[in-house]
Amino acid sequence: MFGFKKHCPVCGIDVKKETSLERFGKYFCSSDHAQKYADLKMSTKDESDNRGGCCC
Ligand SMILES: [Zn+2]
Repeated sequence: MFGFKKHCPVCGIDVKKETSLERFGKYFCSSDHAQKYADLKMSTKDESDNRGGCCC
């Protein structure tokens, strides 16, 4: 049993259960980084969508 141990996927800092912000099943150090992660996720999705629409 290690208890709660998570890291912010944006900056890699340790996040505490009391202060973490859960989004998309991940824990962030701040709402700022949660938003950043959402932006990254969206831009990645857009890219793959564009690739899917192009044959060459
Ligand atoms: Zn962070």
